Amino acid sequence: MTPSDVSTPVKSGLLARQLRKSSKGDGLDVGRLLEMVDQAYGELDLERRRSERANRLMASELEAAMAESALQSLRFKLALDNMQDGLAMYDGDGRLVVANRRFAEIYEIAIEDCRTGTPIADLLDLSAELRRRPKRSRDDLRREHLRGPWSTATVFEQEWNEGRRIRVSRNPIQGGGFLETVVDRTDSYKAERYILHLARHDPLTDLPNRIFMRERMEDLARDRRGDTRCAVLCLDLDRFKDVNDVLGHGVGDKLLIDVAGRLAKNVRESDLVVRLGGDEFAVIQHSAGSKRDVGILCDRLIAALSEPFHIDDQVIRIGSSIGVRFVSARDLDPDVTLNEADAALYAAKAAGRGTWKAFNAQMGRDLSRRRELEQDLRTAIDRDQFVMHYQPQIDTRTQRIYGFEALVRWNHPHRGLVAPDEFIPVCEETGLINRLGEVLLRKACTDAASWPDDITLAVNVSAVQFRFGNLPQIISAALSSANLAGSRLELEITEGVVVEKPRNVLRQLRAIKKLGVKISLDDFGNGYSSLSYVRNLPFDRVKIDRSFIKDLESQKECLAIVRAVAGMCGGLGIQCTAEGVENEEQLRILNSESFNSVQGFLFSPAVPADEVMTLISSGIGVQVRAA
Ligand code: C2E
Ligand code: MG
Ligand code: MG
Repeated sequence: MTPSDVSTPVKSGLLARQLRKSSKGDGLDVGRLLEMVDQAYGELDLERRRSERANRLMASELEAAMAESALQSLRFKLALDNMQDGLAMYDGDGRLVVANRRFAEIYEIAIEDCRTGTPIADLLDLSAELRRRPKRSRDDLRREHLRGPWSTATVFEQEWNEGRRIRVSRNPIQGGGFLETVVDRTDSYKAERYILHLARHDPLTDLPNRIFMRERMEDLARDRRGDTRCAVLCLDLDRFKDVNDVLGHGVGDKLLIDVAGRLAKNVRESDLVVRLGGDEFAVIQHSAGSKRDVGILCDRLIAALSEPFHIDDQVIRIGSSIGVRFVSARDLDPDVTLNEADAALYAAKAAGRGTWKAFNAQMGRDLSRRRELEQDLRTAIDRDQFVMHYQPQIDTRTQRIYGFEALVRWNHPHRGLVAPDEFIPVCEETGLINRLGEVLLRKACTDAASWPDDITLAVNVSAVQFRFGNLPQIISAALSSANLAGSRLELEITEGVVVEKPRNVLRQLRAIKKLGVKISLDDFGNGYSSLSYVRNLPFDRVKIDRSFIKDLESQKECLAIVRAVAGMCGGLGIQCTAEGVENEEQLRILNSESFNSVQGFLFSPAVPADEVMTLISSGIGVQVRAA
């Protein structure tokens, strides 16, 4: 081998030095030279293997990296395609980079058509929604969707065909382009709408409710165009409560639905029918031309509701009363107007039901007086302003007073003695009767404890007092604190008590009877009663309503009813009492009809507690009989 053959090692320092030495004639150490050449080859070989290994390593790393990246993009694709929401990424020019399967589904575009590079507008044109739309609305949707700038974050919701709601959230991405998330909100939108509907409608009749009505009134009042006249009608069903109690809530509910239907059918489309709650409805008559027009509407509604209802094979007759507030739209105030219509309704009901009344200033005064009354009653209970008067009850056989009925009077600081009819209904409506009833019962029991042992006490109890279910305990406590035997007390309840939750009332009546207390059915014949109550409930006495006694001498029908009631009581083995006996002729008839006892102005009105003993010793029953 010549030195020139050894190209690379020649450059190596040692070999070069050896070659220079030989060329200077210093003598060439061939062995050493070969050794060095060999060494150079060795180094070269090592170097080559090293580089080969490095290459292999690099290649396998590259391969691994490529496999990893394929896995990553597979994962990315899987994640994209399994997203609940549609997703599309666009570049700075609005060309598609990537879209997922859900995106294609929502827009109803074949996934193959969601090609990278497709402009957003073309993609939109491919969507079934756009294809389905008529031209104008297609352009609108396009315009809305493509409205820039795309570099700012925006959210918009679109209403699509078949009630679909699509929400698009657009977010710019760093370095240009933007990402769109597309959500099909149809189901949640419907649920939201339903909840919103529920909040503003009555679930039973699906009529708008009070909230809806308030909004409508506020809208009308805000609308300053022209001076629209409106009428707000407050409508209340007569005798609905009786139907509900006697025939059950199921029938009551169906009746309310039918009532809603009839009301809706009898107003114009621009009018609003509302269910305020219970058996109370309202109507806003929009653009009510004149008071006469309102009157025509009221008459029509009253007539519509007085037609019989056919529910579950039963024929039900109810009626309605209406209070009207006729007002210019700009004066509509949800609270004030409705209150005034309510005051008019109150007047309509007081005028005998089945009629309508328009609000006037007097009604307003009555309403505020009623509010004051409520407040005064609260104070009156706290200040103990109630007194008991007692009306004697006469046994027709012995012709003697056998007991007294306790009748409350309000000893008003300015008005003097106020009769119960003026305040008991208000106490019942406000629930005050519960407190008052207990106070009165205790008072009466305490008074009666000082009377002779054979004289009984009758106390009136309202239906409301049965609602809490603790009346037996209240009575038992009143008896023991007054030290009065239960057998000396009689409770007077009206048919209204019985029809309300009969089972709850029956349970309490039985418990009350266990205390030795007697039960009498007051004002019999005056309500929506069912004779089966008299049979099924533990009454000891029936008190026929005084309206039948009033015309006893003049009206044959009254006599027939009185006779029938006496016969019924005789047959059932219970006592029968006539109240409101005012003259001798009435007494004569009642005696001949075998009434057990009587009560009325003929003998005595209710007297203060301190006059009871005088009445007992006067023997009034005997005197009248003798006269
Ligand atoms: P009621 O229980 O039917 O009482 C009989 C009513 O008839 C009493 O009226 C009595 O004064 C009146 N009256 C008695 N005899 C005659 C008569 O010969 N002719 C006429 N025209 N009326 C007569 P009052 O005291 O005004 O009571 C009215 C109603 O108020 C009572 O009717 C009763 O439902 C209720 N009430 C009275 N006191 C109480 C009470 O303490 N608690 C409850 N919950 N209600 C009471
Ligand atoms: Mg009574
Ligand atoms: Mg009565």
